[in-house]
Amino acid sequence: MKVTGKRRTKEELRVAYKNIQEAAVFTVDRKEWRIEVDKIALKLAATRLKAAATTEEVLPSEWLKAAELATVTCPKCHGSGEYRWGACVNGKPPAKGGPCFACEGKGRQDQDDFFRNRAYWRRAIARAVG
Ligand SMILES: [Zn+2]
Repeated sequence: MKVTGKRRTKEELRVAYKNIQEAAVFTVDRKEWRIEVDKIALKLAATRLKAAATTEEVLPSEWLKAAELATVTCPKCHGSGEYRWGACVNGKPPAKGGPCFACEGKGRQDQDDFFRNRAYWRRAIARAVG
């Protein structure tokens, strides 16, 4: 998602954050996503404080930036980047497999993956019930 140079209001930042959060928890672990966002937001706030800013709390813009940057271990491939199916034979992992579609082989999902996966699953669900 593109971030414009224009200053956004607190409400705009909140809405943008919620938007990413909704897409993220649709496809990855909510807790893990939140931990990543917290980590990045606190780092951003700490960097700002070093530059002698006045407030100590994490700013709404920093929460949003963190939400945009957070990546989470892909629950589809468990971080391997490869999706395998079929049965284990003699303790060997299934031979059938390919790059994981949910994270595009990265092993971690980022903001773009959250939105892409949510759109994909929404279409799949609509087809299934339609
Ligand atoms: Zn994956």
